[in-house]
Amino acid sequence: MMQALPEDARQAQQLLQPLSSDLAASYFHEVVGNLGETVEVRLASLEKGRGVFATKDFAEEDLIFKEPPLVGAQHTSNRANALVCSHCFSFIGSIGIQIAHRLLSRRDAEPVDVNPDYLRSLWSGVAELPYSNRFPLRTLVTCLGGCTDSIYCSEECAAANWAAHHQLLCCGRRAQPSSVMPPAETEQQQRRSSFEAFRESRERLQTQGLHSLTPPIRREPPNFDKADAIRLFREHADETNDAFHIAAQVVAGTLLRADELLINNSTPGSTGSSRERSWAALQHAWRPYAAAWKAPWWECVAIPEDVTDAHAFRSDLRELASDSLELLKAFLYDERFPGLFHLDVYGSIVGMFELNNLDLFVASPVEDYFELCHGEDSSLSAEEQHLTQLTTRPLLDALGKAYDAACEGSAFYALQSCCNHSCAPSAYAFKRAHIDTDGSAVVLAKRSIACGEEVCLSYIDEDAPFHERRAALADYGFVCACEKCAAEAAAPGKAAA
Ligand SMILES: [Zn+2]
Ligand SMILES: [Zn+2]
Ligand SMILES: [Zn+2]
Repeated sequence: MMQALPEDARQAQQLLQPLSSDLAASYFHEVVGNLGETVEVRLASLEKGRGVFATKDFAEEDLIFKEPPLVGAQHTSNRANALVCSHCFSFIGSIGIQIAHRLLSRRDAEPVDVNPDYLRSLWSGVAELPYSNRFPLRTLVTCLGGCTDSIYCSEECAAANWAAHHQLLCCGRRAQPSSVMPPAETEQQQRRSSFEAFRESRERLQTQGLHSLTPPIRREPPNFDKADAIRLFREHADETNDAFHIAAQVVAGTLLRADELLINNSTPGSTGSSRERSWAALQHAWRPYAAAWKAPWWECVAIPEDVTDAHAFRSDLRELASDSLELLKAFLYDERFPGLFHLDVYGSIVGMFELNNLDLFVASPVEDYFELCHGEDSSLSAEEQHLTQLTTRPLLDALGKAYDAACEGSAFYALQSCCNHSCAPSAYAFKRAHIDTDGSAVVLAKRSIACGEEVCLSYIDEDAPFHERRAALADYGFVCACEKCAAEAAAPGKAAA
């Protein structure tokens, strides 16, 4: 007789199945509805599964759709390079704050030929760079819960991030102990104190370097509370894999949506016992991720060339994910949704970020600023440039070659992740200068696309030779049958050239 699976394993197995056609239809209807209905999501073919199709004609270079990420995070190593909104990923503060942030948080601390007091006054806004008001950025808004790891461009982003997942992941004083919105009457006062805390932590960063913000992992501290548990989780993710931060957002966001469905009793078609209702709510809340890649991280990750024992390598990764999940469960576990906390589900979320072409990229406005002050095509006169450079030249020299460092990270996009691959794609993801200044995915037409045609992206370098493309796509788990591959497979001599 077959042994019945424990409930968490049984739920996990079902969460990792492809989305039922009903749930998929309702979900993608919502997604494209929010994005202007320029496309629809439907079955492309049995082999390819779902795809994105144009519902109107597009000319070359037309915007097909633009969508904000569902979850996302800046790479840990990128945080010192770019100060961005934790929700929409636009650059914040001012050009002066961005430059001061970079120079003050540098750890390679070669002596910089810029007075640190001047950098601090730029950081605090006391000093302003000439002409920097031509590149206005939104002011810093601190986290509602009072933590210092999240910072926003606006009250809207702070509130949206809090509602989406941060209320369960915030280690700020005001987020504890119960994860509810902070009391309104003292909000102003507490917001001020949280801004002070942010300032202080930044000042510590300025005097001691970024390293001081990430203390080593402590083992089983006394009076283990929720904020400590969250910090332990974050430190582990910082030290091992950035994707754990985003995986936590996925789990927290799913939990919050499921919880809301239960509170409002609004899961479609849900009746029965409270266990059955919880399970229906979880399935509904999980819809955005059920459509994505479904292999655990430790199975789908490419083995680095210097690794000789692939089996041991994969089991180490599994162990690492298991450690991360245990740290997450310490503050997030909810017994109503056991499947959400199963290692296979967690591993699949992390795996999704290994392969799904989920780069987050936002160009730096600092680049445009230096272009104005030092570039040949500047709108400033030669004399204005000369005067300005007395201030900006030392900063540019101190920043060095990477003066224009962008915001880089990973994110998950509901619609973009449904676009199938083609080596002769009809569309491409591209950020238009000065228009797309946040973390949204932007998909443009690479050629004219007729209504009803599929919107395909290339996951790889589509100009690479046939065999290289085939090998690169093997990592994604499929053999490409696009028209270019079909033609080159039929004429192998030509393809090898
Ligand atoms: Zn924002
Ligand atoms: Zn927070
Ligand atoms: Zn192809």
